Amino acid sequence: MPKKAKPKTCPTCGAEFIPVIYGMPGSELFEAEERGEVVLGGCVPDFGPTVTWYCKGNPRHRIEEDRRGRLTVVESQDDDDLDFG
Ligand SMILES: [Zn+2]
Repeated sequence: MPKKAKPKTCPTCGAEFIPVIYGMPGSELFEAEERGEVVLGGCVPDFGPTVTWYCKGNPRHRIEEDRRGRLTVVESQDDDDLDFG
């Protein structure tokens, strides 16, 4: 398996990326989410590309991972209700 690589900062706006954690989080992860260090994604999606990183500057900027593990920077039109404070 090739190691996943992601841009250090958002190529669109230059902000940091925040990892999305799927599955059942423990209390440490809830605390990390409150600090804005991670986004909790809930259950693992069954199909389609999975958002694995959100841009801290604009949650429409995100990195998706497809079923082959390839990472793609996308600018979504979806207005997900994320607030990184
Ligand atoms: Zn961005």
